[in-house]
Amino acid sequence: MSFQKFELHEKILTGVRMLGYQKPTPIQLQAIPPVMEGRDLMGLAQTGTGKTAAFVLPILQRLMEKPLGRIRALIIAPTRELSEQTNEAIGQLGRKTKLRSAAIYGGVSIHNQINRLRGNVEIISACPGRLLDHIERGTIDLSHVEVLVLDEADHMFDMGFLPDVRKIVKHLPQKRQTLLFSATMPDDVRSLAMDLLQSPVNIQIGHTAPVMTVEHRFYPVQMGIKTALLKDILEKTEMESVLVFTRTKSRAKSLAMQLDRSGHKVISLHGNLTQQKRKQALDGFRDGRYEIMVATDIAARGIDVTRISHVINYDMPSTADAYTHRIGRTGRAAKTGDAFTFVTGDDLALAHSLKRMLGEKLQYQNVAGLTSEIKTGSSKKSATDMKSDNRRNSFARPTQTRRKPKQRSFENANRSSWSQRAQSAA
Ligand code: AMP
Repeated sequence: MSFQKFELHEKILTGVRMLGYQKPTPIQLQAIPPVMEGRDLMGLAQTGTGKTAAFVLPILQRLMEKPLGRIRALIIAPTRELSEQTNEAIGQLGRKTKLRSAAIYGGVSIHNQINRLRGNVEIISACPGRLLDHIERGTIDLSHVEVLVLDEADHMFDMGFLPDVRKIVKHLPQKRQTLLFSATMPDDVRSLAMDLLQSPVNIQIGHTAPVMTVEHRFYPVQMGIKTALLKDILEKTEMESVLVFTRTKSRAKSLAMQLDRSGHKVISLHGNLTQQKRKQALDGFRDGRYEIMVATDIAARGIDVTRISHVINYDMPSTADAYTHRIGRTGRAAKTGDAFTFVTGDDLALAHSLKRMLGEKLQYQNVAGLTSEIKTGSSKKSATDMKSDNRRNSFARPTQTRRKPKQRSFENANRSSWSQRAQSAA
């Protein structure tokens, strides 16, 4: 089926065509018709499924039908990057419409935003904190909002934004359409949905598992060997664009510096950077000036770089949900991608849960001389065996000395020295 079937305005269809979208993604197929009918919607959808267009297209259609000049749609998102990205999607999909949108988030001048708001916009894509600031200053009028979208609601909850969201909602008309999207549904998000949504249509895309177009590999490794392993993988594997995740800002910065010294085109993205620097980093990564971005989880949500071929978890994320969101940066819109995760002895519990979730999509991977065998005393054990007593175990030091690898493709590497060890979990 094509986008024609939705009976969107020709100007909106032109925007769709210009972005090269040929046919709707599953979430677009399920969400666009009820949203165009004005229904509330709860979408359980992972990242990279095309959910932005699923709500932006009906919003554009609705807003084109009435006079312009007032804020009539509000999208609330947890991160600046996501707000900015949604704003860009609105600009692209709505480029032939006369609708105007603005992104509102902290870390940049509020005065420029106030001027922008004076200039009349119809759609706002905002982060909760700065939006509340505008509400308190009286610099934004939300009394004509007809559609509210809460995007990545579970992340809003993680970041402690739900109280702010509830405050913001009090400033909106009660009669409105509300759409809530979340990759997972923790209790607090469910209760927010029950309070805000009226007889919603429920849709679920791809459950909460990371996108299935992605191949997942776990590398058992000791903490001190991670950088050598990463460099080895970067050298041996054909990669288009790589997003590397670290747990801390300082590690993101220092790892990027080490990779830079090894001759890689690399940039880091973390919360200590100014908004301008974050934008520059993202733009450089998007346009290919940097092949590698080393980021903290701040980057896991907002980034939409369709050509990311590999996500590498240098540090294991803290939860399975965080894994889903990080991995959602690759394999977007049904492109394929690879997700590599470095697993130390401390990460085994989560590694096992992920193995259960991903099943055959997840393979353990050894790299001679760099990854570790898992040992208990003298007898080697599989990661699965360790499930019952992982506190007593640790990853043994790699025993083989590492030979300098030749430049070769991932497939060749797989055939020869990379012995692939598929370990199945219970
Ligand atoms: P999202 O989940 O909204 O962040 O979208 C993920 C990526 O898929 C973005 O780069 C979109 O531009 C792209 N996308 C969205 N809808 C389609 C579609 N129908 N066909 C191809 N790509 C799409």
